[in-house]
Amino acid sequence: MSESAITGRCFCGRISFVVRGPEKFACFCYCESCQRAAGAPLVAWATYERDTFSVTQGEVHYYRSSPGVTRGLCSNCGSSITYENEKRPNDIDITLNTFDEPSAPAPRAHIWTEDKQPWLRIADDLPVYEKNIG
Ligand SMILES: [Zn+2]
Ligand SMILES: [Zn+2]
Repeated sequence: MSESAITGRCFCGRISFVVRGPEKFACFCYCESCQRAAGAPLVAWATYERDTFSVTQGEVHYYRSSPGVTRGLCSNCGSSITYENEKRPNDIDITLNTFDEPSAPAPRAHIWTEDKQPWLRIADDLPVYEKNIG
């Protein structure tokens, strides 16, 4: 876990942010919503205390992607940046691959594998959850 500030940005660079650790969790998510939102077979997320995240440049576009769920993205380039769920009001999930150093933190689980594409094979030893954890 990292205690230090992590900076990140969207693909086009209009949006920059900073988040202060340590992260609470990090995972690979295969849910259908993430697949469609990112146009990718999975999304790697890290979870932080919501008030440790701040946008330092630009404006995140927020939209309600399903009941109780708000996703944040760049309206120019489409990068997925944040996920917030009313069921976890103190948390914010941030896409690991928008971090300037996306190799830290590392995901610790695979979630929502019931939606995983059959041609994608999980080949590590991390725990696998068909739905969410818990
Ligand atoms: Zn952008
Ligand atoms: Zn997901």
